[in-house]
Amino acid sequence: MLREIVVESDISWYYLCKVGQHRDKEIYHLNRERKDMILTAEICFKYETHCHTSPVSKCAKASVEETVHFYKSIGYDGIFVTNHFLDGNINLASVNLPYRDQIDYYFADYEEAAALGEKIGLKVFPGVELSYKGTDFLIYGLDKEWYKANPDILRMTKTEELQYMMEMGAFIIQAHPYREAHYIDHIRLFPRSVHAVEIINSNQAAEANVMAALYARQYGLMITCGSDNHWAGDVFHHLQKKGLDPTIAGMCSETPIQNVQDYINMVKEGQMRPFLQDAEGNVFEIGTDLQCDADADVGIH
Ligand SMILES: [Zn+2]
Ligand SMILES: [Zn+2]
Repeated sequence: MLREIVVESDISWYYLCKVGQHRDKEIYHLNRERKDMILTAEICFKYETHCHTSPVSKCAKASVEETVHFYKSIGYDGIFVTNHFLDGNINLASVNLPYRDQIDYYFADYEEAAALGEKIGLKVFPGVELSYKGTDFLIYGLDKEWYKANPDILRMTKTEELQYMMEMGAFIIQAHPYREAHYIDHIRLFPRSVHAVEIINSNQAAEANVMAALYARQYGLMITCGSDNHWAGDVFHHLQKKGLDPTIAGMCSETPIQNVQDYINMVKEGQMRPFLQDAEGNVFEIGTDLQCDADADVGIH
């Protein structure tokens, strides 16, 4: 079954466009223009904004080492390790550990990744993925010491927690807002509690990403993209098996990021651009202001 192309909308910003063919499947993505399809050298610094490592994320299949080496091998300049926090799918052996020890455990994968990244020349930054019944948020800009000093966040409602984190300087993104899964009772949006929306999450169906983009657009929220990689180098195979576009999404810039605050500032200033990369290493830029000429697509039945 071929997915229908969405062409009619008063919002010309995001469309599903046919961008290629993979075996018997037609591949669609958001608003990628044909002329943008071969784009490599111009994109300078590439970053993964959303990935998981084992053992801290229970659902992650790849170790820290595999993850760091993978991103280095495909030409990335940095990654944010965004494992599931204490309120989510964390692989904590004992919830009876004192809170501060749980935080130490939580940041252990990031620290291991940062040390390895330093050795092999990949920047590794800390991030956090918070969870509320399967509705997730990416938090950037708060460090281990901050979490240690703030055990009360676990007792707050999600809205209170997000508000508090924002006041403390965090940059907050609603991750894959239209994700559907057996463990998610219903889709929840938090338009007043986030700065940005993850409009392409590689691990989500195209229609969920299109809706995320519309959500961002309608509420005037900033946008980011990430792969939500739980599999390091097996990610392309995994996406393909799920019937998704086998590309990983990230954010790129013309100048390198030195720390988390650089990233936050550059997203706010519009200096980070979304891109996709496939298993062959081709890099595609995704327009965010372009209009795809869907009529030009051929062979759609
Ligand atoms: Zn996960
Ligand atoms: Zn995630």
